[in-house]
Amino acid sequence: MTVGPGALALLGATLIDGTGRPPLAEATVLVAGDRVTAVGPSLTTPVPPGIPAVDGRGKFLIPGLVDMHVHVYTPDRWHPELFLAAGVTTVLDLGGQLRDLTAYRGAVTSGARPGPRILFTGPMLEEGEVYPGFAGFCRHVEADRIEAEVDGLADAGVDGIKLYVTTRPETARRACARAHARGLPVFMHQHATWGAEAATAGVDSVEHLNVFGQLAPEGLRMAEPGKLTPFEYGGWLWRWFGDLDPRADHVRRLYDALIGAATALDPTLVLYASRPGALGDDVGDTSVDDPERTRLLPLLPPSVAKELVGRWAERRAAARGASEATRGRTRRAWENMLEVVGGFHRAGGLVLAGTDCPNVAIVSGYSLHRELELLVRAGLSPMEALMAATRRPAERLGRRDLFGTIAPGCSADLLVLAADPIADIRNVRRIERVIARGVAHTPAELLSALPKS
Ligand SMILES: [Zn+2]
Repeated sequence: MTVGPGALALLGATLIDGTGRPPLAEATVLVAGDRVTAVGPSLTTPVPPGIPAVDGRGKFLIPGLVDMHVHVYTPDRWHPELFLAAGVTTVLDLGGQLRDLTAYRGAVTSGARPGPRILFTGPMLEEGEVYPGFAGFCRHVEADRIEAEVDGLADAGVDGIKLYVTTRPETARRACARAHARGLPVFMHQHATWGAEAATAGVDSVEHLNVFGQLAPEGLRMAEPGKLTPFEYGGWLWRWFGDLDPRADHVRRLYDALIGAATALDPTLVLYASRPGALGDDVGDTSVDDPERTRLLPLLPPSVAKELVGRWAERRAAARGASEATRGRTRRAWENMLEVVGGFHRAGGLVLAGTDCPNVAIVSGYSLHRELELLVRAGLSPMEALMAATRRPAERLGRRDLFGTIAPGCSADLLVLAADPIADIRNVRRIERVIARGVAHTPAELLSALPKS
């Protein structure tokens, strides 16, 4: 049953409000329209008579989750109901065409399809040639026109700027300066701007693990941008990451450079996790075909399920015949990936949760649960992992007033969980209700609303 938007009282649950504050037992949260109007202990928070109430006793309330790296992509790969069913009430699209993004956003805001709030950067900006396979979500920009390009996107209402692989440090610096003057954060998938150069340029969030490319051994530096396909960038990291010493001085210096410039890391671990899975089921905790996903499979639209199964098969086939040495190297690389994300966090770095959905075998919404689990494996506490998908994204986007925490005045984006996510982060999967902008849904009803083909 879908309820609202109207008045709603959530009574008696343990509140984890996304700020990082300790949980509040027996909380009352009041919603009116699309906003939270009151939050507090049940004993001292009066509930107006006659408003519909949800009995939250024994349950847990957390803010709706934010996926900081998605691509809304093409209509057949855009499943807004799936995000919402997984409790993802806000997504940041980091590369797409404005016309498409505006249409997708319009479909959600008009109520035509239930879905998450969509924030976007518009196309990924390339100073060099656009990789033909990515023409659908990139745009070539002449370096001397970068300010005009940023202004054009700002005028069109974007929520940030995305710089892509061929953008050089000086162009990145100018893009950041103009974006910041327009109140917009900058996200970057790096290559021509290498390692800490992105932090120096003023980039607000480095995407994936490319920033660690700076630590590659001499002689293994990547080819010029534009000479590799984007698919090879990821592959290149696996060649040497297992040999990295995560405790070495140059690793620490890289953390310090990012932290000194307040540059966040959005590691998209779930994107890398699909690789070891390909090398054998003995690395089950990183495998894409984990039991949770398998349970999810029958619920997915057949086209999504078919693609997912195809990706798994593809990866198993690619792994067939891999030597024990290759498997060992891949496993060490994966452990080091987790290690550097944890190390950056422990050094005081800001980590964001993103998935790069629908890349590889990443499922809308549900893969963010996996990302949170991997962030905890990397060394974040469950509370910190939750913050990486709630308060931190809102702060990075300058929208603390709107989403990311459960507070009076904020959008009523809340999840009712059957079990405590602080005790075990995997409990974020145990969603009973999703309240998005004041409208209450159940995952089952959202999944049944998915297209059947
Ligand atoms: Zn991406």
